[in-house]
Amino acid sequence: MKYYSLNNNSKDVSFLNAVKNGLASDRGLYFPKKIPLLSKDLIKNIKSFSNHEIAFNAIEPYVGKDIPNERLKRIIEETLSFDFPIIPITNSISSLELFHGPTLAFKDVGARFMARCLAYANEIKETKELTVLVATSGDTGGAVADGFYDVEGIKVVILYPKGKVSPIQEKQLTTFGKNITALEINGTFDDCQDMVKSAFIDSEIKEKSTLTSANSINIARWLAQMFYFFIAFKERPNPDKKLAISVPSGNFGNLCAGLMAKQMGLPIDHFIASTNINNTVPKFLETGIYSAKKSQTTLSNAMDVGDPSNFIRIQEIFNNDLFKIKKSISGSYFNDSETIKGIKEVFKKNKYITDPHGAIGYLGLKSFLNLTREDFSGIFLGTAHPIKFAETVESTLKIKMDIPERLKSILELNKKSIQIENYNQLKSFLLDR
Ligand SMILES: *Cc1c(COP(=O)(O)O)cnc(C)c1O
Repeated sequence: MKYYSLNNNSKDVSFLNAVKNGLASDRGLYFPKKIPLLSKDLIKNIKSFSNHEIAFNAIEPYVGKDIPNERLKRIIEETLSFDFPIIPITNSISSLELFHGPTLAFKDVGARFMARCLAYANEIKETKELTVLVATSGDTGGAVADGFYDVEGIKVVILYPKGKVSPIQEKQLTTFGKNITALEINGTFDDCQDMVKSAFIDSEIKEKSTLTSANSINIARWLAQMFYFFIAFKERPNPDKKLAISVPSGNFGNLCAGLMAKQMGLPIDHFIASTNINNTVPKFLETGIYSAKKSQTTLSNAMDVGDPSNFIRIQEIFNNDLFKIKKSISGSYFNDSETIKGIKEVFKKNKYITDPHGAIGYLGLKSFLNLTREDFSGIFLGTAHPIKFAETVESTLKIKMDIPERLKSILELNKKSIQIENYNQLKSFLLDR
């Protein structure tokens, strides 16, 4: 499989080169030349395939000969080494919990997959020292830090907006040490993302080291997320009904992965793009006009994105045809007080505790199901463990949650970060090392 740049101004590259480059040299996102089709047998008999077999079938055509099949199978086994339970909330609404990985975030799967692909790339070819540079609005950083921790030959530099991530998230970013460095940026997530983008095209930096991204723009992170939608389809509680999946969205990598799975032939009937007030995409679906905005801070901070990077991939999947996009995706957005009400409502329904992101997924799904006929049932993606947003969840529900063991140990470690005010400081940091 070859990958082309969506800016159409750089050479096509192989899978591993696209993973190493992150962004194409013309700053475009990579996109596969072809969207492969799944075998009919896989879809028809999906229950008889193990999750590892399904993931292998889904991802193998995108990887091709770049990674030998046996190694790819091992990478998948190591990546998908935890559970993805589906929990029913009502007769027609369930939650697919994606947060049982090491950092309790759904981004663990993409980060672990990418780290293992890059580790393989490093093994087969001596490259200049590889630096993974990543901007995070909360969860990406922890998942990337964990996925890459102690991987030989790879340094990880994480940029996060000062004061805009939760205390647990901050600990997850700043306590690893070794090959992981956290930079605390005086600004928003969009500022962090802009700095990362500037570093990628900075020729002085490029001369000294090889930079790669680990944001959802990286194809290894993005495509590995397709797996969730296969699980949703395989384990859906109401197989006789049409399936709608509500995806709490920020940079739109996850939803875009779901759309790829659908293009490959996975029978998902509808998607809901559920956001907080950073509603650039739902507004686009309403008006047909894409108008990027500055991001605003909300309770669901991992979705505080005003100009989602992956949206351009969604447009590519649908050939920029607004009519087709709207046939597959509806948009919904909710402010913080609606989010709080959503958390309460879900808890009332069957004592289910959801974090603010999941609550937005739930609300988006509910409003879609209310509008349509009875022939649908739906799944919303639980993207973060509620304990990561303990302050909001506990004060809303007047409960106290237990802290899982693997978080307890992190909370006792000391934060280590470097303060950065502007791009020049980032640049000297990257050049000095
Ligand atoms: C990253 C993240 C999202 C948004 O995912 P995208 O792929 O960027 O749309 C939603 N919820 C949580 C908890 C996240 O960490």
